[in-house]
Amino acid sequence: MPQVWGSKELLEDVHQRDLCIGCGACVDLCPYFKNYRGKTSQLFPCNLTQGRCFAYCPKVEVDLEALYQQIWNMPYEGTPLGPYRQVLASAAGPAMAQDRYQGGGTVSALMAYALKSGMLDAAALTVRQGLTPLPRLVTQWEEVAQCAGSKFMAAPTLSGLNSAVRQGYRKIGVVGTPCQMLSVAQMRSNPLGKPEHDVPVALAIGLFCNWSLDTRQLSALLAERTGAAEIRGMDIPPPPANVMVIDTDRGPLEISLSDIKPLIPHTCFTCLDLTSELADLSVGMYEGRAGLNTLIVRSERGAALMADAVAQGFLITEPMPVENVAHLATAAAAKKERSMRMLLQRGLINTQSGRAALRMPASVAAKILPPKGIAG
Ligand SMILES: Cc1cc2nc3c(=O)[nH]c(=O)nc-3n(C[C@H](O)[C@H](O)[C@H](O)COP(=O)(O)OP(=O)(O)OC[C@H]3O[C@@H](n4cnc5c(N)ncnc54)[C@H](O)[C@@H]3O)c2cc1C
Ligand code: SF4
Ligand code: SF4
Repeated sequence: MPQVWGSKELLEDVHQRDLCIGCGACVDLCPYFKNYRGKTSQLFPCNLTQGRCFAYCPKVEVDLEALYQQIWNMPYEGTPLGPYRQVLASAAGPAMAQDRYQGGGTVSALMAYALKSGMLDAAALTVRQGLTPLPRLVTQWEEVAQCAGSKFMAAPTLSGLNSAVRQGYRKIGVVGTPCQMLSVAQMRSNPLGKPEHDVPVALAIGLFCNWSLDTRQLSALLAERTGAAEIRGMDIPPPPANVMVIDTDRGPLEISLSDIKPLIPHTCFTCLDLTSELADLSVGMYEGRAGLNTLIVRSERGAALMADAVAQGFLITEPMPVENVAHLATAAAAKKERSMRMLLQRGLINTQSGRAALRMPASVAAKILPPKGIAG
């Protein structure tokens, strides 16, 4: 595993390189790091030479090969979708109330069933207060749907996971974006090797994510067009829509993606993962069929939960056409290639002198972006 440093190096490698995504993994571990309206800052300096802030951050030097060996017991091969058992179409089943889910409600249904069945004693989810996404710890299965719906902004969800550990929960579920799932994988591997740092994640559900938006910049953009209190939800319909739709009390508000894309944090352009390759289960939209999700079943525990949730009426599934899986793999490979080009341009991958942002075997990096493509 790569060496673990302290908060001084975290600030150098992540904040000064403009790589922080505000995931919350370094927040609520100690009194020093806080997240306010999407931005994480250190309030006071800390002199420790090693810290969990550095160990958990998904944007410090991450060795994907070592992490894959720890989580999947296999090498990192740079395949578009990562390791998986099955890809299905899915939606919340009859045991779930009909609610305002983002797609089919698969995430809410799986988390609700995991809490109801006793697999989990708490779930770290994300709510919206005004426009700002915030962590929310849920312990009752009926409350899960209150967190439904995508907040298309980087959220400090993982500070909720840190709080759950501090409060003594021992079977914790978490839902997050691929960068957050990378952090959760690091937490699960306990990089400092201390038993008191055990993070008992019993279920990690990852979302698909091509990019997110900066909370403060989106607030500023929307302030000109609607009040935060009027916002009921948001969606980014698939191409050719080319808009973000904000659902307000006064009806839908469409914003052109050309106004939205400048609000993407630069760190999203160095992110290789579209489908949360390190999660137990991954969920995204089903292009072309509203009310359904794409569900990737990865781990043994994810497969067992999915089968139980179907048997108990929390989830319904149907086969996914092979051409849809191929289309998803093409999109995932395109994200990897785009981000690999940026990582190479910025000298952030497999850096020879000093700490990199990412390490992987050179042969895998060349497979993701063959050398002839680097200049293009
Ligand atoms: C920033 C972002 C970008 C996304 N990009 C894509 C994409 O490119 N392609 C695609 O297919 N899908 C994307 N998704 C996922 C998609 O929008 C749905 O979340 C997913 O399909 C699950 O739908 P559902 O009906 O099962 O979710 P629901 O049952 O409505 O549950 C949604 C869950 O997501 C969690 N959540 C919401 N916002 C956040 C957030 N900002 N950070 C962490 N957790 C959050 C909530 O806690 C809730 O549990 C993205 C989601 C986010 C948050
Ligand atoms: S752990 Fe998350 S919030 Fe903290 S510095 Fe890293 S990316 Fe930013
Ligand atoms: S694109 Fe990557 S870094 Fe950006 S929010 Fe999504 S998973 Fe995180």
